[in-house]
Amino acid sequence: MNLRIPGPTPCPEEVLMAMTKQMVDHRGPEFKDILLRVTERLKTFFQTKNDVVTLTAAGTGGLEAAIVNFLSPGETVLAVSIGVFGDRFAKIAETYGATVKRLRFEDGEAADPDQIAAALAADPSIRAVTVTHNETSTGVTNDLAAIAKVVKAADKLILVDAVSSLTAIDLPVDALGLDVVVSGSQKGWMVPPGLTFLSVSERGWEANANAKMPRFYLDVREAKKSLDKGQTPWTPAISVFYALDVALDLMLAEGLPAIFERHRRVAERTRAGVKELGLRLLAKDERYASNSVTAVWAPDGVEVKALRAALRERGVVVAGGQGALDGKIFRIGHLGYVRDADIEETLHALREVLPKVGYSAAAATA
Ligand SMILES: *Cc1c(COP(=O)(O)O)cnc(C)c1O
Repeated sequence: MNLRIPGPTPCPEEVLMAMTKQMVDHRGPEFKDILLRVTERLKTFFQTKNDVVTLTAAGTGGLEAAIVNFLSPGETVLAVSIGVFGDRFAKIAETYGATVKRLRFEDGEAADPDQIAAALAADPSIRAVTVTHNETSTGVTNDLAAIAKVVKAADKLILVDAVSSLTAIDLPVDALGLDVVVSGSQKGWMVPPGLTFLSVSERGWEANANAKMPRFYLDVREAKKSLDKGQTPWTPAISVFYALDVALDLMLAEGLPAIFERHRRVAERTRAGVKELGLRLLAKDERYASNSVTAVWAPDGVEVKALRAALRERGVVVAGGQGALDGKIFRIGHLGYVRDADIEETLHALREVLPKVGYSAAAATA
């Protein structure tokens, strides 16, 4: 199967094979070696000197950790959202008692830094800003450099969901001064689901010292304390660590610039290919179209469900829409272990299958 969903993504053979190894004592020297080696190399990909902690959890667990470790109930959060995942970040903050002010942009749009600056100026009580780097539900990448600039100018904490961008799209954490950045193993990292990573700036740790939201399993201070001993507070997903260790080798061998370039190339090919078929991107301004996932409007007369089923029969699995976009769009994942041939095959299958599910290119371009 050509698995073209934006996570979980396919894994290289070597990465999968690493998971067949026997368990080790998670409080012993073998695991300590892996944990310390993995942690140092994660920092390379986060482009940071900050602490990076790894928790055994889905990406959503990482987002929850980014809220509960740095905020107190009653504090005001500006939740910038351009889709389902931005909304989820806001919901988590609300769940734990933050006063959430939403700044929601339309699906397909990127966040406007000027509007963020205005919202921050209008309410001095805002303590932190949550923002999604790459909105997986719409295939739009925010201009995080511009956003970070206005958030820092206003002297607020910036908490970033980079679950579907880190390693696929350039994100220099230290250069942008980002306080907390979250990613997840099953997206750009070419690793199965199970681990989430968080970088924490010095300012982030200062906020952590006074943060009062309840937490136990996701306590990053505990994770850091254990990490200093080469351990994790609770039993880690050891097999996923084995996989990550090997994936990081592969990624270091390829090199960050080459990885970003490969993602740019396959994304551009995907966008050009769907447009050649007469289809329209959800991203309103192509400058913000994502290099890790492409969201495409289903053309008139074509049911997303039927299209996905027909593609699956051809060996290509694409994602549908989430939330309000369910039944309206489909999404092609191209992050992590993705090669040019995977995209050519996907486009070829689309070309073949579309007419069979009611698509007439002439009607679409008329
Ligand atoms: C996938 C994803 C998440 C959630 O990750 P899970 O592992 O499914 O919990 C959060 N944010 C973004 C942007 C994502 O793409």
